Parts: sequence; structure tokens; C-alpha cells
Amino acid sequence: MSNVVAIVGRPNVGKSTLFNRLIEERKAIMDDQSGVTRDRHYGMAEWNGRPFTVIDTGGYVHGSEDVFESAIRSQVQIAVDEASILIFMVDCETGLTDLDKDFANVLRSTKKPIFIAANKADNQERALMANEFYELGLPVDIYPVSSVSGSGTGELLDELVKKLPSENPEDDGQLPKISILGRPNVGKSSFVNALLGTERSIVTDIAGTTRDSINSRYKMYGKDFLLIDTAGIRKKSKVHEDVEFYSVMRSIKALEESDVCIVMVDATRGFESQDMSIIALAHKYKKGVVMMVNKWDTVEKNTSTADEWKKSIYEKLGEMTYIPIIFTSVLTKQRVFQAIELAMSAYDNLHKKISTSKLNDALLPDIEKYPPPSVKGKYIRIKYITQLPTKTPAIAFFCNLPQYIKKPYERYLENKLRSHFDFSGVPLQIFFRKK
Ligand code: GDP
Ligand code: GDP
Repeated sequence: MSNVVAIVGRPNVGKSTLFNRLIEERKAIMDDQSGVTRDRHYGMAEWNGRPFTVIDTGGYVHGSEDVFESAIRSQVQIAVDEASILIFMVDCETGLTDLDKDFANVLRSTKKPIFIAANKADNQERALMANEFYELGLPVDIYPVSSVSGSGTGELLDELVKKLPSENPEDDGQLPKISILGRPNVGKSSFVNALLGTERSIVTDIAGTTRDSINSRYKMYGKDFLLIDTAGIRKKSKVHEDVEFYSVMRSIKALEESDVCIVMVDATRGFESQDMSIIALAHKYKKGVVMMVNKWDTVEKNTSTADEWKKSIYEKLGEMTYIPIIFTSVLTKQRVFQAIELAMSAYDNLHKKISTSKLNDALLPDIEKYPPPSVKGKYIRIKYITQLPTKTPAIAFFCNLPQYIKKPYERYLENKLRSHFDFSGVPLQIFFRKK
């Protein structure tokens, strides 16, 4: 089950303000200079230990209020169909408008949980205005909130996370689940067809956990996995402008369901902000990631072209240099199976367990050679290293003064870890703990 929460509502009610508050991504994990994180409209949030993905639907409608009938209407419908929970935002400052009623009419059809966030309830007086929105006739609670100050949002989130689909532990530990993600036209369907065409090894079609995602089971060179397919989405979306929004919704759900994501990038367009957004989300969810730069046949190349591309993409990826990049042509079937192999090894790395003695043997000499810099005359001593029993790799360094270890040293340790052990394609969590 997916955990997508969509914020819907007319323009200027404060959707993106709430969105930014929920994902708290101003101090972004990514390199700000790269400029590719700017137009992010979805991201991971967490409340009471429950992660979920928030999507600011406003980011996908361009134009003013008078576009409701076409763009907004179909977009709200997509949000209603594809999200698990809806936050319907209205504005206490302006009060109830006709456009709010239009939204309510679309929302009335769904049985999914809806939370009305009556925003800009910055003070008592405004908060009282929120009652006006009962006139919308939706049989749901209204939460006066102030997205700017954050007041009221805690109450809303307390109730919202109770409605998230419960995690299904039985779902785990079965076949590796690999999703193929990427913008419309990057070559996802062609990729799936190429896999199907050359290997007649497809076992079954299993209807996915979500209504229209198809999980196909593959057996390929002795490897057994489920492919979570977002390829068919274009046919489903009738309105042209919504392809992007619809594909984003579907991609997020496929991402949440999968262990490893193959993110396809279009070599004819280069690495784009949308590609960065999906990778950033995968990173937050601690998924394995492989980047597949497709349509490589269209690029005029010399011997250093691939290296130049890699260098430029890694600069944009910031810390996420653990993501392997492969250059493919689905058209000529160049390196198509290597992409699957990389995804499978990312899956193995995601579940890799390294013993404490191996970690100590490998890393303690590195630490001795280059110990953490002392702080205020105090020496920091790392005594031993152990992998924590978490679902995805997390390494704990036990030391006397964990609070004094700074980011650059953490980076040093991560690089060393990765040079000793293959964690290609997977994020590593590093903790410093007091013995
Ligand atoms: P969106 O179009 O729905 O995404 O709306 P924005 O998030 O861009 O906000 C529209 C305007 O409302 C901006 O000027 C915000 O600063 C303002 N705004 C958002 N939340 C609040 C709030 O809680 N109180 C007040 N007074 N203004 C807010
Ligand atoms: P999707 O929307 O991501 O499923 O993309 P499609 O698989 O439908 O591909 C979109 C277009 O790109 C089609 O015309 C494909 O033939 C073309 N295409 C896909 N892969 C490649 C490739 O590796 N090289 C070239 N030149 N074209 C490709």
C-alpha cells in the first residue's frame, strides 16, 4: 500500500507553505548550488515515526483560478484516485469561495480520508472563521491551521497518520521488487518490452497491491524478481497536461512499493530536476537506486563522453555518489541486462550484513591513521564498529564523545566503508554512539 498524501485546494490558500513545513527540506540534503532541487513538489514527511509522501498538487497546475474546469478539475480527480489521503486546504482569510465548492464537489465522490485544513488561522478570530467551511457539506473534520507558524498542524497530523495504511510486515522478505521510474517518454515501456522480448521467462502477471500497477515476475539468468511497472500510464491519462502529474503519482507509489528503483534519465534531455526529485525521494526512503541514462545511442560520443556525463551528474547528486550510473540504449539493447544486474546487486547490498570483527579489522586501521580531530583539547576515540540490525544498512561507531564528530569526518568514514565493502546503489546510515 502506498502512503501518498495529496494537498489539494485552489491557488494561494497556502498549499506549498504547508508542504514545505511538512517535508522540512529547506536545509536540503542536496547540493543547493546545483539548482536541481528548487521545483520540488513532493517529498517524504514523517510524523510520530510514520513516514509518508506529501505531494503539493498546486505545483502541477499552471495558470490562474479560471483554469478550474480543465486543468484543476482533472488534476484533483487524479489526486483523488491515486492518493491514499487528501488534505483539502481552504483559506480562513478569504473565507469560502465558489472554487472551494467546486473542489468539494469533486472530493465528495471519494471514500478516502479527507482532512480539511482551514489555513491562515493565525489567531483566535481567524480560527473561528474555520467553522464557515462546514458549509461545504463534507462529512469530515475541519482543522484550523497556520502553515506559516505551524500552529494546529500537529493536531491535523496526529489524526492523519492514524489513517495511513498499516504496514504489512508479511510483504517483506519475498522476491526483490524493482521499479522502473522516469519521466514520460524516457523509454520505460520499451525497456520492459526489451526484457520481455529476449527472455521468455515471465512467470505470471500479478495484480499489484495498487489497483492498476502490474507486478510482473521475472526469472532471468537465475535471478527471480518482481518488476513494478509504471509504463502503461500514458494510456490511462486522457488529458494531455496531466501526463506529468499522473506519472509523478504513479512513480511515487511504485517507489514506495519497491526495494530498488531503476531511475531512467533521457540522454536527449540530460539530467533534469524531475529526475533529481525522484532520486531524492528514493534516498529518503532508503531504497536502492540505479541510474540508467537511456537513449545513449543518440549521443555523439568520444572515449571520454561517459566519464564527463558521470562527473556532471555526480556533481548534481551531491552526497548520493553511491548511485551507479549505466548508459543504455533500449533501442539497440545495449547494456539493458546490466541495468537489471546492477539493480539486483543493489538489492543484495541493501541486505548485506557485515560482522563486527570484519568492520573493526577494516576500519580501525583507517581511524588510527586519520583519527577524528580533537575538539577543545578533547580526544575522540572510536572503540569499535558494528552494523545495527536494521532493515537497510546502518553502521554504528561507538566512541567516547559522539557529539563531537563532524560531518566531514562522517564522510571520511562513509567513503572508507564503501571502499572496503560493496554498498553500491544503497544509502548508508552512520551513527555515533556512546559505549
Ligand atoms: P498555494 O498557491 O496554495 O501553494 O499557496 P502558497 O503556499 O504559495 O501561499 C500563498 C500565500 O499565502 C503566500 O503569500 C503565503 O505566505 C501565504 N500564507 C500561507 N500560509 C499562511 C498562513 O498560515 N497564514 C498567513 N497569514 N498567510 C499564509
Ligand atoms: P515511456 O513513456 O517511458 O514508457 O517511453 P517509451 O518506451 O514509450 O519510449 C518513448 C520513445 O522513446 C519511443 O519512441 C521509443 O522508441 C523511444 N526510445 C526508447 N528507448 C530508446 C533508446 O534507447 N534510444 C532511442 N533512440 N529511442 C528510444
